[in-house]
Amino acid sequence: MAEYQMLIDGALTDGSAELEVVNPATGQPFTSVARASEADMLRAIAAAKAAQPGWAAKPLAERQAALMRLADAIDANAADLARTLVMEQGKPLEQAQAETAYAAVFIRHFAAQSLEPETVQDDEAYHIQAHYRPLGVVAGITPWNFPLLIGCYKLAPAVLLGNSFIWKAAPTTPVTALMIGKLAKDIFPAGIVNVLVDKNDLGAVLTSHPDVAKISFTGSTPTGRKVMEAAASSLKRLTLELGGNDAGIVLPDADIAKTAQRAVGSAFFNAGQVCIALKRLYVHRSIYEEMCDALASEVAQLALGDGLEQGTRVGPLQNAQQYEKAKTYLEAAHADGRVIAGGRARAGGGYFIEPTLVRDIGDGSKLVDEEQFAPILPVIAYDDPADVIGRANSSEYGLGGSVWSEDIDKAVAVASQIESGTVWINHHTHFGPHIPFAGAKQSGLGVEFGKEGLTEFAQRTVISVSRA
Ligand code: NAD
Repeated sequence: MAEYQMLIDGALTDGSAELEVVNPATGQPFTSVARASEADMLRAIAAAKAAQPGWAAKPLAERQAALMRLADAIDANAADLARTLVMEQGKPLEQAQAETAYAAVFIRHFAAQSLEPETVQDDEAYHIQAHYRPLGVVAGITPWNFPLLIGCYKLAPAVLLGNSFIWKAAPTTPVTALMIGKLAKDIFPAGIVNVLVDKNDLGAVLTSHPDVAKISFTGSTPTGRKVMEAAASSLKRLTLELGGNDAGIVLPDADIAKTAQRAVGSAFFNAGQVCIALKRLYVHRSIYEEMCDALASEVAQLALGDGLEQGTRVGPLQNAQQYEKAKTYLEAAHADGRVIAGGRARAGGGYFIEPTLVRDIGDGSKLVDEEQFAPILPVIAYDDPADVIGRANSSEYGLGGSVWSEDIDKAVAVASQIESGTVWINHHTHFGPHIPFAGAKQSGLGVEFGKEGLTEFAQRTVISVSRA
């Protein structure tokens, strides 16, 4: 029997098969989880559909209280969750603890929200109000880079507003999602929260099923396109948070030490497997030498190792496929630029890539043009500040970007020309449940977080009263 069960219709279940889960620090399985068949997924959809009206009929305060209890349960189990997160995902324990704590923070944030009716006209002729109602069954499909947090920040707004929720975890990181399912079992009515695992084969059951009203998807752009295509058959509501290739632009007057420290903090967090990581850094030629030296000395301090070992700052890549892909970016680093820190894949078990810094590289290298999702940062020199904005924008992606300068007005002027959903100034990657988060271009569709993000889990119904 698998060590971890799925939550379907209020019961922990073994499903139809088992899936081994590999610890990326060793390359060996460390546990097994229950896995769903198509019939299990259909059962979850039916249960979620049947339970949803009763949940929506409950007072908002009851749904808010249930979410608060889930956040408390996560806090109470934080040590176990964080350790397990390291074992399934690979990140350093400190980052796993932060992800666990952040999951509770996001849930509590949503638990304190509501969507009150909004009056849009109120005069002698009409009284018109917009009301927010639940959509029905919401599916959350999540990736493997933040397997605990991303599911939690989809679950919370969905159930807050009276929807039921089906969470399909990524097959290589299903364990912490199932642990959340177990906690949710004792908090929510049967069918309101369901947590399932597949082998990358059941996403399409959710995205094409007529009884699923909305898909909240986080993952790669190619899969996002497939989700959108499948969802078209029943015109589902969609939120797509997809890939990115965030550029940072360092202006000549940037603070070198501060920029180096923060840029490295963003680019190498979670071994570079962050949608909103800094993925290419453009540095003005007047400070290029100094900046490369400062960055290299920061990167040299990043200890690579098992996330459970004390002192580890960068863990392994999450899975074998991503590891193989990262090696092709290492080849590009050596072929197209000059490696000044790291530069090797570590042999002997585990998916380890040394934190790597590459200079004297340019646009046209796959390391610069593609989303590398690995701890390898290219640093590119530029001469013309007007030209560099076009280079930053010359990507199909538009998730985030950053500008680094001691002159904030100048930085804002550059930031306003970057084609992305977020632009940070003198930092990169900061996000939170109150900050609207969205991708421009092929980085996504719709918004998560903030009031706008919340409304995407609701159907807006306008009730228009004639006073004549
Ligand atoms: P992925 O697209 O391969 O998988 C994401 C999820 O989709 C998994 O649960 C997978 O099982 C499921 N899936 C696969 N095929 C499907 C289909 N046909 N229909 C429905 N679901 C399907 O992504 P990944 O490799 O797990 O994650 C890495 C990617 O996610 C990167 O591109 C990264 O930038 C992106 N990401 C984006 C954000 C963001 O908020 N924009 C956050 C984290 C990760």
